[in-house]
Amino acid sequence: MKNQITKIGVLTSGGDCPGMNAAIRAVVRTGLYNKLEVYGIRRGYQGLIEDDIVKMESRSVANIIQLGGTILKTARSKDFKTPEGRKIAYDNLVKRGINGLVVIGGDGSFRGAVDFSKEYDIPCIGIAGTIDKDITGTDFTIGFDTAVNTAVSAIDKVRDTMDAHDRIFIIEVMGRDAGYIALHSGIATGAENILIPERKTGIDSIVNSLLEKERRKKLVNLIVVAEGFELGGASKIQELLKDKLPKAEIRICILGHIQRGGSPTCIDRLIASRMGFHAVECLMDGRHNVFVGIQNNRMNYIPLEDAVKSKGKVSEEWMRIVKILAS
Ligand code: ADP
Repeated sequence: MKNQITKIGVLTSGGDCPGMNAAIRAVVRTGLYNKLEVYGIRRGYQGLIEDDIVKMESRSVANIIQLGGTILKTARSKDFKTPEGRKIAYDNLVKRGINGLVVIGGDGSFRGAVDFSKEYDIPCIGIAGTIDKDITGTDFTIGFDTAVNTAVSAIDKVRDTMDAHDRIFIIEVMGRDAGYIALHSGIATGAENILIPERKTGIDSIVNSLLEKERRKKLVNLIVVAEGFELGGASKIQELLKDKLPKAEIRICILGHIQRGGSPTCIDRLIASRMGFHAVECLMDGRHNVFVGIQNNRMNYIPLEDAVKSKGKVSEEWMRIVKILAS
């Protein structure tokens, strides 16, 4: 049965990622197509609290599908973590008659939507926008593909100089809790070691693998480490390796925020468009408090609560592939 959704709000929250604009465009145009009024909420939950809300038209989202960042801007809102803040946010929605919300963001933003939906009867639909791909229940999150491709092209450049000098290079990529950027970019650039938060890897095992490669005259070694690896990022790994291998030439490179920016890849634009479209359909179909995922090329609607509870696992298959191909 169709719900009486008439006015919807869309916001981007938490860390930005390439493809958020494509998702906003899809939400706005699908909403308008279905005769809904659509409101853009600026600066995430903070804008909701400060009533920084603008009516969106088809032209408001013209020529943005190719842009990184988010035209609605994003913010981290401490106020929304308090019941008082969420009450003001709710009052602002009621004042405008907005009766459905699309939240584009990561697990933190989903946690906010879960808290909000426990207190107020405004359906929230999430769209997973995070370069880290740290949300379970979906094969894709918006921004991941772009971030990985940015990392791959940067690592390729570093590899040229690495090769010229027979050096060990440690490259740090983003990923506080999830190592997917490290895993995918590492495999795609032929890294010898990939260090991720999901797996314990002792420093001795890294040293042993370097020594073993040295014995085989493989002198160029690329280590890709996720920032959230349990022993630390690139600087820390460099320090630990220097202790054990004082003669080795070890360089580091921290890719940092370049991974967040830039024009979204085709895949990110496609999934953002698809998820944005389905998020509005969800609201009209009366779905409550789910996020839109894609699994095995099918839409998957997962309770927001589940998205924030479970942590992803990196498959053993990929780890075996890394080990065998880097020999
Ligand atoms: P991301 O969505 O990228 O994971 P954050 O973790 O910073 O980013 O979360 C974005 C915003 O979501 C926070 O600034 C806050 O406003 C809101 N939020 C996060 N956790 C909660 C919570 N437990 N309760 C209410 N709001 C929350």
